[in-house]
Amino acid sequence: MEGMGINYQAELVGVLGQPVAENPTGVMQEAGFAAAGLNWRYLTMEVPPERLEAAIAGVRALGMRGINLTIPHKVNVIRFLDGLSEEARLIGAVNTVRRDGERLIGENTDGKGFLRGLRQDAGVDPDGKQVVLLGAGGAARAIAIELILAGSANLIVVNRGKERGQTLVTHLMDKTGAAVTLQPWEGTYIVPSDADILVNATSIGLYPNGKALPDISLAAARNDLLVCDAVFNPAVTALLALAKDRGMPVLDGLSMLVYQGVIGFEMWTGVKAPEAVMKRALARALAEC
Ligand code: NDP
Repeated sequence: MEGMGINYQAELVGVLGQPVAENPTGVMQEAGFAAAGLNWRYLTMEVPPERLEAAIAGVRALGMRGINLTIPHKVNVIRFLDGLSEEARLIGAVNTVRRDGERLIGENTDGKGFLRGLRQDAGVDPDGKQVVLLGAGGAARAIAIELILAGSANLIVVNRGKERGQTLVTHLMDKTGAAVTLQPWEGTYIVPSDADILVNATSIGLYPNGKALPDISLAAARNDLLVCDAVFNPAVTALLALAKDRGMPVLDGLSMLVYQGVIGFEMWTGVKAPEAVMKRALARALAEC
């Protein structure tokens, strides 16, 4: 075997979360590594909040090439890192850590994944577009920051809880100086006729409540309103089905999920991600749920 250049040492990445066992990201990333011929492994690891600091020390000790964070670690991990990307700082949360030499840098690819789907799958550039965003949680925050950085105009945030909605709107205006309006969600929200893009970033419609619809009316909306859902399970939510019935273009949450992973893959490996392979693997894993 001497001189054959065999290397049995795999590069390691993974995800830390709790609960995490049903997180399908590893299936998608491992399919990507195999298709790209990379000897990399993606480990799905359950870590409770009180062990996060030790887990990040473990990431360093093992020389892991990167890590994803999911609930409940996206905010708390920041204190254990050595730096943040501009977007992660603006969003205030990290879902992807990459290594820069010995330094661990926090990134956020959730909103970037959404934007890539918007451009690549829906063929829409958000620059100058009027956006209505349903929800004010973590997904809404990441999507809103990226939309504003990409030039969206007059973002309207619609949220059930006034306090959380106001916190997000104040955060967005303070951090970016953009014009953002809060619309309390009282009764049926009528999507205005000048909206170009509607995004559901609430968990309404998420499995096992697949039939649930956000309380909105599309009666006044334009026929070419692009209706997007962050919910990826089911891929065709009740909201997307309603929009399709009306002949409106749609963008599903699978697109955002795939591209956040694609962007992470490329940050870690420096290799172009096999997007179609990763998307197929993820869709198959979710169909098996
Ligand atoms: P959070 O718990 O941080 O926020 C949930 C949001 O949904 C809040 O704004 C909450 O409003 C709203 N909400 C929940 N139930 C209702 C309801 N019955 N009526 C009105 N509003 C409601 O969750 P995340 O932001 O992390 O996730 C939101 C969704 O996005 C989830 O379904 C998640 O799976 C999905 N997601 C998808 C990703 C992807 O890559 N496709 C990435 C990340 C998340 P209130 O403030 O009033 O409680």
